[in-house]
Amino acid sequence: MGGIFYGISDALLRKRRCPKCGKEQVVPREKRRETVRCVKCGNEIPPPTNR
Ligand SMILES: [Zn+2]
Repeated sequence: MGGIFYGISDALLRKRRCPKCGKEQVVPREKRRETVRCVKCGNEIPPPTNR
């Protein structure tokens, strides 16, 4: 049970935009440091380097 601020920053960390098609998607928390696949075009989206 985190506080409100934790919840907001967590939501921001989970948002990732596909560099290929621009589709913004939510990444599961446990995969935020892994490369995920775009739900729209299938392109691989690497984790953000800053944090
Ligand atoms: Zn895409």
